Amino acid sequence: MDIPFNKIYYTGKEQDYLQDALKRKHLSGDGFYTKQVSRVLEERFNINRVLMTTSGTHALEMAVKLMNIASGDEVIMPSFTFPSTANAVIGQGGKPVFAEIKRDTLNIDPDSIEKMITAKTKAIIVVHYAGIGCEMNKIMKIAGSYNLSVIEDAAQAVNAKYKDKHLGTWGDIGCYSFHESKNYISGEGGALAINVDDKRIYNRAEIIREKGTNRANFIRGEVDKYTWVDEGSSYIPSDLLMAVLYAQLEKLDLIKLKRKEIYNYYYDQLEKYLHSDFLAEIPTIPRECKSNYHIFYLVFKNNKIRERVLEELQKKDISATFHYIPLHLSPMGKKLGYRFGDLPLTEESSSSLIRLPLYTGMKEQEREYIIKSITEIFEEF
Ligand SMILES: *Cc1c(COP(=O)(O)O)cnc(C)c1O
Repeated sequence: MDIPFNKIYYTGKEQDYLQDALKRKHLSGDGFYTKQVSRVLEERFNINRVLMTTSGTHALEMAVKLMNIASGDEVIMPSFTFPSTANAVIGQGGKPVFAEIKRDTLNIDPDSIEKMITAKTKAIIVVHYAGIGCEMNKIMKIAGSYNLSVIEDAAQAVNAKYKDKHLGTWGDIGCYSFHESKNYISGEGGALAINVDDKRIYNRAEIIREKGTNRANFIRGEVDKYTWVDEGSSYIPSDLLMAVLYAQLEKLDLIKLKRKEIYNYYYDQLEKYLHSDFLAEIPTIPRECKSNYHIFYLVFKNNKIRERVLEELQKKDISATFHYIPLHLSPMGKKLGYRFGDLPLTEESSSSLIRLPLYTGMKEQEREYIIKSITEIFEEF
């Protein structure tokens, strides 16, 4: 059996909505479907204002601009993340400062955040890894006492909660991704959740998203001509993509449920190996968290075991993967002055981790084959 790492799941309505979007003859941004998906996100996740974007990466870029991160400002974030988190800060001339993660969730450690704060610190970017929330109560408290902005990289955390409040709605701004590798997809796409109740920030977000122009104000009749008023770029997604996303968001709960079944199956079948001398961690969902079941990972006792398991799975045609090369050990991280040994837990976890295939439409035979194969590998140890 050949098992890919990811397989796209269609709810069945994507083609209808896409055709309808074509018929509406509004292929650029902010058409009928863009309005629909923004409304769904605002209502379902209780978000103040949502602006759809061309990607999660672009949502992060906008968020950093909106929080006025500028040259010399330091922004604390985990090293265990995708480069987009740090690129957004670099793009504005800011400096990413990498904090340590926690062993149980691989999320940023609030104690480590506090240790990294200096007079130059301007913001914290948390990353909700695998759809499990960071400790937002502690983090918001730290941010409050040092007067720091909080941006949530909630790219993986659409439709997940911390303490009954959706991820992406805790910080000043939350950033979602609808890339085809995520739970809810438009191919490429993202959203900005603006949680601060500040009309000026919302208005500036509209301008940055619309190539630095006040076109949105013009369309609403608030100004009599539209012109270049601020920095900006082209961050508005085509309505065609939002038609696809609308079909996905109609099935918010069904998609989560399907993933939960696979996740729970993995968990139940693999939990017993936690007492072995080769497996160190499988994901835990803290009591305060509700997961969206984005990722199921295994952390082994060392890198050698990880490499062997990956190789054996490959022989059985199962595409498991690893990630991330910690940002502080990447060529860019080294340019920023980081070295091996700076963040031991990040280094240890990332070098010993694999992700199992977990896609919404995974068949029972597929998940059974994956577990049977892993069990065979484990029995060899
Ligand atoms: C996927 C992802 C991104 C980037 O999202 P895109 O929509 O692909 O640009 C950023 N941060 C994290 C943590 C991600 O997983």
